[in-house]
Amino acid sequence: MKLPQLDLIDSSLDRLAGDLCMVEQEIVDVSSVAGRVLAEPLLADRDSPSLAVSAMDGYAIRTADLSLGRLPISGTCPAGSAPLKLEPGTAIRIFTGAPIPQGADCVLKREDTQENADTVVFDSQSTEYQLGQHIRYQGANGKAGDVILDTGTLLTPNAMAGAASFGARQLSVRRKLRVGIINTGDELVPAGQPALPWQIRDSNGPTLESMLKTQSWIELVFRQQVADQPERVANSIRDGLSGVDALLLTGGVSMGDCDFVPQAIESFGGRIVFHRLPIRPGRPVLGALSREGKLIMGLPGNPVSVAVTARRLACPMLRRAAGFSRNQVPAPNVTLANPDQKTLDLVWFRLVSIDDCGQATLVDSQGSGDIVSLARSDGFIEIPPHASGPGPWRYVAW
Ligand code: AMP
Ligand code: MG
Repeated sequence: MKLPQLDLIDSSLDRLAGDLCMVEQEIVDVSSVAGRVLAEPLLADRDSPSLAVSAMDGYAIRTADLSLGRLPISGTCPAGSAPLKLEPGTAIRIFTGAPIPQGADCVLKREDTQENADTVVFDSQSTEYQLGQHIRYQGANGKAGDVILDTGTLLTPNAMAGAASFGARQLSVRRKLRVGIINTGDELVPAGQPALPWQIRDSNGPTLESMLKTQSWIELVFRQQVADQPERVANSIRDGLSGVDALLLTGGVSMGDCDFVPQAIESFGGRIVFHRLPIRPGRPVLGALSREGKLIMGLPGNPVSVAVTARRLACPMLRRAAGFSRNQVPAPNVTLANPDQKTLDLVWFRLVSIDDCGQATLVDSQGSGDIVSLARSDGFIEIPPHASGPGPWRYVAW
């Protein structure tokens, strides 16, 4: 049975996703599509391989001639040349990727032969050689018309290999998702500036900026700080929304007297879909939509809360708005080297470091304001309500 707390997280995100706008598609030259999200499937324009080719450097022969143990070399076929014809009782020297000569049905590996100027000698008793040995047959990887990449796929370097191989010149992809960041708080000074003891340097802005800038499908349009004044917060959200598809805010969503984000969103017709989730850190988190269906995520101000809720809640929403078919960020299972018996009746995101073998260690943390533990962590594990022990637990890397 699924725990109600976990259910509430998923159902809240689903409700937010329900009316969320997806960015439109555009046709882009294949030279510029790397890192974008496919809006239509990529189809194979021909079989792969397009004809039978050799998987090895060696000699193309007929298995019927194997018993001879020695064959005259009747030709050479390098990659990129048209298929030759193999005369019975002869061998053709062939290289990896070259077309299999007509009549050949087997390739002998070069290292299994003795090569002379015009003959090749091999073990006629070898059981290794059989029909089709070291031949990549036409269409073995995929057939013309097959879907090579589905709609909603990120065009990674490897996906680009597919686009290139199948002759794509232009692709239909999603426009980059335009995102803005607003950091609220009277106490903030820009990172890199001197700060009085009662001020803090804005760390949430740089956290979110670097998270967004490392995503090839996002365009960061602006990042700004706003003082805790109702009109200023409302104006900055309204103005900011006009040039973006999604807004990430930090601070100002709790129950304090200076927490103006919820009322600011509602003041211009934004709809709050959820406010507060059974999670720690990040409980006050807020998910909303503008009238046009643009995403507005209000992340709580504490730095650990921002990092966790951005990765666990905002990222899947941004991916959805950007046109991904798979919205979840990867979360493999890890076990803890130093488990304890502490539990919560909330979903508990605990900071961990990961060793070279993939084992997790809890990072000693003073809570959601502990920026030192955050900076030293590799990611977090997700512990369901009332659970404890070594796991395995879902792990999300930063
Ligand atoms: P709030 O959610 O606005 O009540 O903020 C919660 C805590 O997070 C407060 O201690 C803030 O000082 C801190 N905080 C808020 N915004 C930032 C920021 N941009 N960078 C670092 N800490 C922040
Ligand atoms: Mg604040």
